[in-house]
Amino acid sequence: MKLAERLSTLKPSPTLAVTAKAKAMKAQGIDVVGFGAGEPDFDTPDNIKKAAIKALDEGFTKYTPSGGIEDLKDAIIEKFKKDNSITYERSQIVVTCGAKHAIYALAEAILNPGDEVIIPAPYWVSYPEIVSIAGGKPVIIETREKDTFKVSPEQVKKAITPKTKALVLNSPSNPTGSAYEASELMKIAEVAVEKGVLIISDEIYEKFVYDGFTFASIASLDQKIKDLTVVINGVSKTYSMTGWRIGYAAGPKEIINAITDLQSQSTSNATSIAQKASVEALKGPQDSVATMVREFDKRRKFMVEKLNSMPGVSCYNPKGAFYCFPNLSSHFGKSFNGKKINGSSDMSTYLLEEAKVAVVSGDAFGSDEHIRLSYAISAESIRKGLDRIEAALKNLR
Ligand code: PMP
Ligand code: GLU
Repeated sequence: MKLAERLSTLKPSPTLAVTAKAKAMKAQGIDVVGFGAGEPDFDTPDNIKKAAIKALDEGFTKYTPSGGIEDLKDAIIEKFKKDNSITYERSQIVVTCGAKHAIYALAEAILNPGDEVIIPAPYWVSYPEIVSIAGGKPVIIETREKDTFKVSPEQVKKAITPKTKALVLNSPSNPTGSAYEASELMKIAEVAVEKGVLIISDEIYEKFVYDGFTFASIASLDQKIKDLTVVINGVSKTYSMTGWRIGYAAGPKEIINAITDLQSQSTSNATSIAQKASVEALKGPQDSVATMVREFDKRRKFMVEKLNSMPGVSCYNPKGAFYCFPNLSSHFGKSFNGKKINGSSDMSTYLLEEAKVAVVSGDAFGSDEHIRLSYAISAESIRKGLDRIEAALKNLR
């Protein structure tokens, strides 16, 4: 069977693959430390589970409107008002099967063949793939560690061509943990407004911020940029609900309408009982979020300090999300048992095979000098895994 050419360059998600590989090794009895996790290691809070059970008991088990149930749209509207000072109407919100599918449906809704989407690197693995599947062209612009992995308005301006349709912003960022101040977003917004470029603002890590960082949504800055922004968010990370598959997009009616219609012909709707559980997640008690963020903060501090203490390793101190993105490039060119480490992919293979530590290779995120380590795993595993990495690096000659 000859598969569609559209998918000829499609790569499976490397972040999901590493997590699955570590789980499979553990199931075989191998003592592997998995730093791949792109999901909180906390259970979904009880009040949220109870809301799903109640929905089941009440028979809320049928199709819902394609764009999402009204009480969830209202809870999302309230969340935007309360957390981000942005006002949306129901027609500007669509509930999707995870934030990933919101981005996918958005790309399908706005891209014509060859349309360009600017993606700052390091980027989340799925952005370029999704743009390509939808027939668009990912245009990667590099950020530098010394600029704390942030793109400048000048860089954005330079990358814009008549074919540019959108710019992806992900603050706080997966994989770097870098996050933009409101004043920095304002300057990027000015360029976007001047050039009429849509902003895709992925805010899924909004609640995971540290060191007193204040999160700002670019859509909250002024009306002009709000009209040019689609905000992507969801309950996966904030409420430890990755398996429930509920995300959402908010933005101009025309785009939201197109995504809703696309859903009506593809997924039909996000799962009914998961939507009810998400209403509780957004409107119920929020203390579980604060507890989780506090715990992540402790692990983050420990991890950054330990990584920076290792010879030849430097790690940016992340302001948000739950990943560290250390630079290991000074170890490239060295060997173990005659096998040379040429880049991040060789490094992650070496760490998995020799140290039994699973990490995601930086090249998957568009940066070959780094590896990604999640701190959404227990403090004990972090300690054990980092000790193993330190020992493994010492064994390179
Ligand atoms: N955006 C980013 C930056 C992510 O890391 C993730 C992680 N899965 C997603 C979107 C998608 O999240 P989900 O589909 O689980 O809502
Ligand atoms: N986004 C998470 C990660 O980067 C989960 C995996 C995925 O959706 O790709 O690890």
